[in-house]
Amino acid sequence: MRYFIKPVILVFFLLTACAPAEPDTVSLMIVNVSVINPVDGKILKNKDVIISAGKISAIRPHSVKYTPDATLLDGTGKFLVPGLIDGHVHTGTIAGLSFAQSEKYPELTKAYFAQQPRSFLYFGFTTVVDLNGNQESFDRFEKEEIHPDLFNCGQALILEDGYPAVFVPREARQYIFPNQLYDPRIKNHTPGITQKHNTVKNAVQKVKDNGGICVKTFHEDGFSKSIWPVPTAEMLARIRAESTRQNLPLLIHANSYDSTRAAVIAGTDAVAHGLWNWDQFADEKQLPRELMGILDQMIARNVAQMGSLQTIAGLRDLFDDSYLNRPQVATVLPPAYLDQLKRPEGNWYRDDLISGYPTNMNDDDIVRRLDNVLSHGQQAQKYFYDHGGRVLFGSDTPSGPLATNIPGYNGYLELSRMADTGLSLPDILKSATITNARFFGLDKKYGTVEVGKLANLLLMSKNPLETIEAYDAIDQIILHGQVIDRASLKAK
Ligand SMILES: [Zn+2]
Repeated sequence: MRYFIKPVILVFFLLTACAPAEPDTVSLMIVNVSVINPVDGKILKNKDVIISAGKISAIRPHSVKYTPDATLLDGTGKFLVPGLIDGHVHTGTIAGLSFAQSEKYPELTKAYFAQQPRSFLYFGFTTVVDLNGNQESFDRFEKEEIHPDLFNCGQALILEDGYPAVFVPREARQYIFPNQLYDPRIKNHTPGITQKHNTVKNAVQKVKDNGGICVKTFHEDGFSKSIWPVPTAEMLARIRAESTRQNLPLLIHANSYDSTRAAVIAGTDAVAHGLWNWDQFADEKQLPRELMGILDQMIARNVAQMGSLQTIAGLRDLFDDSYLNRPQVATVLPPAYLDQLKRPEGNWYRDDLISGYPTNMNDDDIVRRLDNVLSHGQQAQKYFYDHGGRVLFGSDTPSGPLATNIPGYNGYLELSRMADTGLSLPDILKSATITNARFFGLDKKYGTVEVGKLANLLLMSKNPLETIEAYDAIDQIILHGQVIDRASLKAK
């Protein structure tokens, strides 16, 4: 009897030792993969990543013990990174159609919005943060069968008569921007805006009540022309205080020297946009000392910068006739929609932009000017980065209804531009994953490949620490543990 029992116990023992307690819900095993840690840029080779109930339940050395019924994904020769987080998108803005056109072509509008979440996923963005949107567009986005995890800052706090309310007829403003702030300096108030209700306190409360994870406001003086009122220092200080009280990070839209200074003085957590508008130094070729000074202050106060250089590059790309023929564009825009953009009607945004420049400037002059602004933004980002600044990733997709800021691909271009600017590939990955996750308070679930975090992952055939092209060489997107073949996300 003794000799009989012993081998049985031994076999049982061996089995349990080789296969450590496996959660019974293992659904996916990514085997023999190189796992990249964006925190330190290190690679853990030959790992098996075990996923149960949408979360990472174990990461262990590669072995040949597989769990029956689990989906196996062979990671041999591939790289596993956390899904990317685009910290600046607008799910309610349609890239390419004017308001009138989107009414005129409801089928195209529908097709665009149905594809939008898939396009973000196609380029690896498994999380997006909408910095100024409305519940209707959030709902539409989340109603699609597959979509990135969506977070938002609710509706941005906008000064009545300030940017961007100023673009909308007064009667329609309350509808489009329901979170406007009463401006005591003006006489004629927007219908419906009152001193009693449109306070900073109520506006921040509204963001919080609607599930926002951040507060966004604007300091935009009219692209350096000082034509629009901007919030006073006192008002910005109140926004800062209320955001702190509600435990929400604050992002201030600013892209000029003056606005960036105002944002830093207000004690913002991040400046949304790069410092590309050099105000009185606009004609300088190299970053002036005064601007270095403000960037130094941002670094000293740990104010993050979200460069969003595609905001400018997208305008410049309006003049690149090859843009819409790039192979990536056809992967993320439905064919009928893309056809519409290629018609003469599709040039409306460029025509509009041109009409805003002096008549003696031709297309080449405008492109030269935009290139100059882009170069300024890149120089500022490089200085900020080289001196230890905290760089967030945000592509501002789309920054307006322009056809050259399209979902997913625009984020890829932003990543590429950061590489052109001179940020290292490990730091670019870090920025678009854990740095963003920490900034938005999402790092318990997002931002690294770690046990306990959500299984939002990308399996890449190229190494993103070696080439930026890796972000366009994604084989599978894993979303809450579900494997999605990248090709299946293509627009059709
Ligand atoms: Zn934006």
